[in-house]
Amino acid sequence: MYDVDAIRSDFPILSREVNGKPLVYLDNGASAQKPQAVIDTVTRAYAEEYANVHRGLHFLSNLATEKYESVRGKVARFLNAGSEDEIIFSTGTTEALNLISYGWAAPRLEAGDEIILTVMEHHANIVPWHFLRERQGVVLKWVEIEPDGSLDPQKVIDAMGPKTRMVCVTHLSNVLGTVVDVRAICEAARDKGIVTVIDGSQAAVHRPVDVRQIGCDFYAITGHKLYGPSGSGALFARAERQAEMRPFIGGGDMIREVTRDNVTWAEPPMKFEAGTPGIVQTIGMGAALDYLEGVGMKNIAAHEADLAAYATERFDGLNWLRLQGTAPGKGAIFSFTLEGPAHAHDISTILDKKGVAVRAGQHCTGPLMEHLGLSATCRASFGMYNTRAEVDVLIEALDLAHELFA
Ligand code: PLP
Repeated sequence: MYDVDAIRSDFPILSREVNGKPLVYLDNGASAQKPQAVIDTVTRAYAEEYANVHRGLHFLSNLATEKYESVRGKVARFLNAGSEDEIIFSTGTTEALNLISYGWAAPRLEAGDEIILTVMEHHANIVPWHFLRERQGVVLKWVEIEPDGSLDPQKVIDAMGPKTRMVCVTHLSNVLGTVVDVRAICEAARDKGIVTVIDGSQAAVHRPVDVRQIGCDFYAITGHKLYGPSGSGALFARAERQAEMRPFIGGGDMIREVTRDNVTWAEPPMKFEAGTPGIVQTIGMGAALDYLEGVGMKNIAAHEADLAAYATERFDGLNWLRLQGTAPGKGAIFSFTLEGPAHAHDISTILDKKGVAVRAGQHCTGPLMEHLGLSATCRASFGMYNTRAEVDVLIEALDLAHELFA
């Protein structure tokens, strides 16, 4: 039995009020709230266990290193990676995708080589590839989505040509909630020797992920959406790809030896982790993964599927609301506009007065907004602690916004 009340009581912020109303936090797609277990772990890490990692021979440094390094195994288990050496810590998906761009792609790709993207990618999975277009003449090939926001994997497969070197695709759209059949895409890409990059920022929060079953080369996750601290994240990078990668950022910790004339690298994954890392952030991410494991990703997925079905039913009753993205099996992320003059920012301001936190804007998806012919949407994104009652509060607040602008 999924005890949502017990889960809610683990998140202290959920009991606060906003604008005199109980908080209804529906901005999980931007960043999720933190359970007490994460807050306690972070506090303890600073209060009792803090020192720099990997470089001390004293008690606290060894303790901090042990706590920090133990998270690699947790991430590997969370993603079902073959080995914890395939896990590179990052500050989030943005840094991880830039590491791939600078570390793997830049030294390999030449003018005319192609990277396939879909129009619903987040800027984090677009801009690092634009760098290669600008600097090296790499061609970005865009795959369109269907009218309901789904992505036909065959269209991605059909776009793969002799010049295609990489496919970079989201596992779950942060705007439409569309779930992508990344396994089919990766299988076809592997047969053609094309490297696959999966942006798992949203998917890993909402459903179990198995990188071995997906068969991707790279899979990026970000800690702050996974109920962990901001500034934490991880990249699964298949061992063969890691062996081909140059380091991205140079400095301490990532070297074997530095002389006046030469430098040699540490073994992966350390080779890709220069300088003092986000020690406590990463340890906090480990606590978040423990928490998620305790609840069970399958249980979270089932709870959110129920919320998504209920929200869809309630949205369907509003004939003045335009939902963007109705793909079958979509995640609990709903973007919408209202008929009439109300701008997404106005709607979110009215919702905020009712204690309902949503996001309004482009959601870092310029090409998708262009595809939809919209400058902005409102987005309600649900998490493990949201309830049907909160869907009702959202609908009431939307009714009010509609009345005000009608
Ligand atoms: N990719 C997707 C699909 C996202 O939703 C986000 C964050 O909103 C990112 C990438 C970027 O993540 P971060 O800012 O944590 O690096």
